[in-house]
Amino acid sequence: MNILILGSGGREHALAWAVKQNPKCDRLIAAPGNPGIAMVAECADLDILDGDAVAAFCGENAVDLVIVGPEAPLAAGVADRLRAADVLVFGPSQQAATLEASKAFTKEVCDACGAPTAAWARFDNLEEAKAHVRREGAPIVIKADGLAAGKGVTVAQTVPEALTALDAVFAGGEGQVVIEECLTGEEASFFILCDGTAMLPIGTAQDHKRVGEGDTGPNTGGMGAYSPAPILSDAVQKRALDEIVGPTLREMAKRGTPYQGVLYAGLMIRDGAPKLIEYNVRFGDPECQVLMMRLGGQALDLIQACAEGRLPEMTAHWAEDHALTVVLAANGYPGTPEKGSVIQGLGDLPETSETMVFHAGTREQDGRLVANGGRVLNVTARGHTLREARDRAYAMVDRIEAPGLFCRADIGWRAL
Ligand code: ATP
Repeated sequence: MNILILGSGGREHALAWAVKQNPKCDRLIAAPGNPGIAMVAECADLDILDGDAVAAFCGENAVDLVIVGPEAPLAAGVADRLRAADVLVFGPSQQAATLEASKAFTKEVCDACGAPTAAWARFDNLEEAKAHVRREGAPIVIKADGLAAGKGVTVAQTVPEALTALDAVFAGGEGQVVIEECLTGEEASFFILCDGTAMLPIGTAQDHKRVGEGDTGPNTGGMGAYSPAPILSDAVQKRALDEIVGPTLREMAKRGTPYQGVLYAGLMIRDGAPKLIEYNVRFGDPECQVLMMRLGGQALDLIQACAEGRLPEMTAHWAEDHALTVVLAANGYPGTPEKGSVIQGLGDLPETSETMVFHAGTREQDGRLVANGGRVLNVTARGHTLREARDRAYAMVDRIEAPGLFCRADIGWRAL
């Protein structure tokens, strides 16, 4: 098979690394890719938001399967354009991708199918939104709605904090906001392949959003992750499938917008009962790195079966082990990351099925590897226990010479 992976981060490096291990993979291309991906795939210069350009590229290069990494091409309708051109694609349609693009849409779907989630209300009027907050009291959660809204989530501990967050959402004069009941419990991520009707869980993970140790400081794209997430026991997974994911898939199919691709359910678990916080319509980054580490080459069989609507034939097998990834980020992240610092020592590290350094924001400059983004490297290891995986990952971190990068020293602390 000739396979094209869209994206350029650590998630796509992990996907490329896993796919490449499958003997079915003949030619592997990534667009745009990065220096780490270039070690396992050809990198192509392609505008991945331009569906026509991607479809034409697939025709010219006899691509059999496209794996879409990030959400932006999905929200731009690239998967629809590829399907129209009869290219096999892993990733939801633009309409199904609304499960990530609009928080209000996801809430409506949950209500329609009875999936447990935080109580919510939607407003496009600032004064009405403020009146609602005053009525409900704190803690309360304020979420700017829509893709353009970006990272606009405030978990407000007081009413004045919630009112300030509302002012920020409506700062331009107009706004749309979802206001939610504040859930308590432990958060975890659940990854499920969906082929429109059938679903197949492929793993659980927990990430570390805050930049500082002990979960302090500003939010980031994720400073590390581990899999499995102990809180997502088999019983809790079953409840999440029966009560949340299954009903969502049936509702999406009923609306004529079946969901195909990986569904990432962000869950809050309390007393064994899961509630949906959010859906993402792609793998998490860095959660994908720990999932791929545990799945290996079979990831391609699963992804292909998902894209072809053959999930009921499949089972996911993985060793009963643990994987953990530590993100090395550029100094200054998540503010303004310093670019251009030199990274050395990667060549001496073992790259095996047990330990891998996935590249995220790296670039080659004059024959040297340099930092080229906020999150730069994902140092990933497997182990019989989470502790072993963690010790292996940090032992590798210690061998990387990169004074321009930093990491959290406590990845995995909650589970350990
Ligand atoms: P992400 O970067 O995780 O995709 P997002 O901008 O899509 O974030 P959400 O995932 O909806 O937004 O919320 C971000 C975080 O805020 C959640 O991971 C969770 O910690 C917290 N949060 C969101 N909704 C609630 C809620 N109803 N109750 C408690 N905490 C919440």
